[in-house]
Amino acid sequence: MRETWQDRFAATPDVLKTGQRQQTVVPVLDIEIGGDEFITMAGPCSVETGQQLMATAHHVRSRGARILRGGAFKPRSSPYSFQGLGLEGLRLLAAARRETGLAIVTEVMSECDVPLVAEYADILQIGSRSMENYSLLEAAAHSGRPVLLKRGMTATIAEFLQSAQVILDNGNPYVMLCERGIRTFETAMRNMFDAAGIALLKQISHLPIIADPSHATGHRELVPALARIAVVAGSDGLLVEVHPDPDRAWSDGEQSLNFAEFDAMMASLDPYLALRPVAAGAPLMEAVG
Ligand code: PEP
Ligand code: MN
Repeated sequence: MRETWQDRFAATPDVLKTGQRQQTVVPVLDIEIGGDEFITMAGPCSVETGQQLMATAHHVRSRGARILRGGAFKPRSSPYSFQGLGLEGLRLLAAARRETGLAIVTEVMSECDVPLVAEYADILQIGSRSMENYSLLEAAAHSGRPVLLKRGMTATIAEFLQSAQVILDNGNPYVMLCERGIRTFETAMRNMFDAAGIALLKQISHLPIIADPSHATGHRELVPALARIAVVAGSDGLLVEVHPDPDRAWSDGEQSLNFAEFDAMMASLDPYLALRPVAAGAPLMEAVG
């Protein structure tokens, strides 16, 4: 007998769609994530300087982004890489919000930093390396801020959903699932973008799905194609790295788009966005067929 997805993911009942609960819409300032509008979150990997952040914020806003990303606390694989500006980075993000009206998403790495980051950010990002840090998940849940949960780079869909369930169980209904690529035997790309994972999550879960084509590939020239695939696979938004001068970025420059590349990517999404179903959560096929 064919196993149902409900049985397969029965350990995480609260993330699954039910008759009554088809789609969670996460409110952030005047933005609704998981609703009719496709939401672009864009900005540098790391906050570096006021000038870098402000220029990027104004630019991405002018092309339709609603949320500014930028790391102030950076989880770097090497202890000798730039670790982020910390509090100064958070202050710059808040200044960018004041100046542009964009909402802010930024990573929190440690449960001790949750109150501080929650004071400045509109959305707390839990990074791939922290997906299974349960005390951090609990603290983030209790912060009262929506949580952008990134999939662990070696996490199965079931494990990803378990981490989301921890946040829901701790009383925070506003979780967004972020597919950012997983480790496979392939080394040409930084990670392997799991488009099927997005399609599956869209079918089984009511939580908004955000695709990160930047970390998923590691190469800026591949980012726009993955962004288009993400739209068609059913994601509710994008998290994409943009930098005024990617070759001089302090982190993840290889995968960051410059402003012109960001503009071209956004323009190339339009025909695909036009195919999105208007009713949140409706399968794409209903819109085209
Ligand atoms: C990031 O968004 O810059 C980041 C560190 O992402 P991830 O946790 O997916 O590696
Ligand atoms: Mn990055």
